[in-house]
Amino acid sequence: MFEERFWDKVAWSSDHWAEPHPVSACWEWLGARSDAGYGQIRADKPDWTVMYAHRLAYELERDEIPHGLHIDHLCKNRRCCNPWHLEPVTLAENNKRAHAGATRSEVTKAKMRTAWTYRKLVADDR
Ligand SMILES: [Zn+2]
Repeated sequence: MFEERFWDKVAWSSDHWAEPHPVSACWEWLGARSDAGYGQIRADKPDWTVMYAHRLAYELERDEIPHGLHIDHLCKNRRCCNPWHLEPVTLAENNKRAHAGATRSEVTKAKMRTAWTYRKLVADDR
């Protein structure tokens, strides 16, 4: 099944579920990568479309990506497929952030903490 094949290529960890750390770990993509360093995977038949791994991770675990939006890596790690490190943003916003510097801003850190809290709430609710 495609979804299993996909997650087999992700070094996902459940550490951040149990460990009360504000910033969860990156889930590195172990499969093929684009020239720009983003993870890629080919779909099953019939179309064999090549898709970006981080976008799939977000859609499989969280929600559909609104039409036209880009996925920003809050952690600045292009190989990362941790759905809680990803945020759908407009192209303009994505470019603005890309030029804001390579290091994580305080705003980004705060967002990652929020994402972690969200994940924890969902987990506790199950
Ligand atoms: Zn990450």
